[in-house]
Amino acid sequence: MKIILASDHAGFNVKESVKNLLSSRPGVSVEDAGCDSAASCDYPVFAERAARAVETGDADFAILVCTTGAGMTIAANRFPHVRAALAIDETDAKTIRDHNGANALVISAEKTPSDKIPALVDAFLAAHSPVEERHKRRVAQLSEEGNRLVEVAHLKDADPEVYGSILAHERQERLCINLIASENLTSRAVREAQGSILTNKYAEGYPGKRWYSGCRHVDEIEALAIVRAKALFGAEAAYVLPHCGASAILAVYLAVLQPGDTILSMALDQGGHLSHGSPANISGKIYNIVPYGVDRKTERIDYDAVEALALEKRPRLILAGASAYPRTLDFARFRAIADKVGAYLLVDMAHIAGLVAGGAHPSPVPFADFVTTTTHKTLRGPRGGLILCREKYAKDVNRAVFPGLQGGPLEQVIAAKAVCFKEAMQPEYRQWAHQVVANCAAIAKDLEEDGFRLVSGGTDNHLCLVDVTAKGLTGKAAADALDETGIIVNKNTIPFDGNSPFVTSGIRIGTATVTTRGMKEPDMKFIADRIRRVLANVGDESVKAEVREEVAAFVSRFPVP
Ligand SMILES: *Cc1c(COP(=O)(O)O)cnc(C)c1O
Repeated sequence: MKIILASDHAGFNVKESVKNLLSSRPGVSVEDAGCDSAASCDYPVFAERAARAVETGDADFAILVCTTGAGMTIAANRFPHVRAALAIDETDAKTIRDHNGANALVISAEKTPSDKIPALVDAFLAAHSPVEERHKRRVAQLSEEGNRLVEVAHLKDADPEVYGSILAHERQERLCINLIASENLTSRAVREAQGSILTNKYAEGYPGKRWYSGCRHVDEIEALAIVRAKALFGAEAAYVLPHCGASAILAVYLAVLQPGDTILSMALDQGGHLSHGSPANISGKIYNIVPYGVDRKTERIDYDAVEALALEKRPRLILAGASAYPRTLDFARFRAIADKVGAYLLVDMAHIAGLVAGGAHPSPVPFADFVTTTTHKTLRGPRGGLILCREKYAKDVNRAVFPGLQGGPLEQVIAAKAVCFKEAMQPEYRQWAHQVVANCAAIAKDLEEDGFRLVSGGTDNHLCLVDVTAKGLTGKAAADALDETGIIVNKNTIPFDGNSPFVTSGIRIGTATVTTRGMKEPDMKFIADRIRRVLANVGDESVKAEVREEVAAFVSRFPVP
């Protein structure tokens, strides 16, 4: 057992006596964090040294002494894994261990007579019987992720304007029902890695082959992220550097295509993505884009039509993947089409990567030459991109990302990706991914029963597209009305939409975020009900006010990580 001691000047003599007492004990090692004399000094400095040792696991317990015990307690408890409590006598010392799980004993030099101190210390350090359930539960609550304000504590003084807006957004996350299909809620662990000091490091290059010195630790992290990404998706090679989904795709284009080459990809207005060849995007400016779409009647991808188009246009690369397609993608069929025309197959699984990782959507990895994704949509990681590919393309992708496209990597984001991949390997994650799909099926069914038309007649994944025109609405009007009640969706074009992309005929609903908050099928019924009521009364302020209150009360039951 390792114990670290600290005191201020007023507690110096008591600390020295505790040191003498413990240094002769077998199996106990003692470290003295200061102070070193009875000359006046500042208690937070010494409290921090001891608390840091407990926080990092370098010490099992701390014993802290000052005049009243208050200063040391306050200073030590700023560390999340430290539970420091003042004990005046033996009973206190036993209670703070048994009831409160204290790992730092604070002694008041003024209140506890010096002859009572050995018994007090012994009572704290004695072997303890198993902690009762209710105490365990309460101690666990002390370290729960609930207090999100801790994450911005320093901003409060440093930049009140930014602090204010983050606080307001924090409130919005808590008080709204977020159904944006491309969003999710990250764990505290992911955010800690992403907000970490790794942002200070330049590390151009790759693990073991850097242009800068001092990369030993970021090398460890990046290597871990790569190993985990490969294991999670069963891929031969993984690139964790891309800053976002769009640059991951661009890197693949750069790796294997020449300017002017033909890409066959899903049309933006039928569910595709800007980066798949929109004239407004660099992809559409450099390459020759041939769009495919969905069948007018079934609103699903017509694979025979895709094949016919591929045979006619002979693309160099076929791109499968979408931002607003509610159905399972048939990767085997895409592979067969690519093989028929000798094209590369790139699957962009930006939206469904979390479902793939959790086994709730078939994996494209066995079929595709390249798979790109974002890490922040269903995957539930930091905002970023990822490329998976066959080993034979590894070098080309490598060069395309750096130096082809990017400068220094964001090591803090790469660390957060590593954390995300680890989370995605846990059994709870698989359950979560299946629940996302079950929740989406539930809300789709509820909305259909309420008279809404679903694009393609339903959903297989985490999102559904709702055609609101039958209710006399546009996508924009529907999304705006819902937003006023705390239900956040996005307007979305539906296939063969008669309205402009700014107005649209549909809304897109996704269930990743609400599932992360712990909602289940019956909760989807609540949400579908409120959507129906708001959209049946878009001009009615009293209905909106009522729903707004119901929504706020409802979401308060579901914690935000
Ligand atoms: C979101 C998305 C992207 C782009 O991701 P960013 O990180 O925003 O660049 C690419 N492809 C698809 C299919 C997407 O849905």
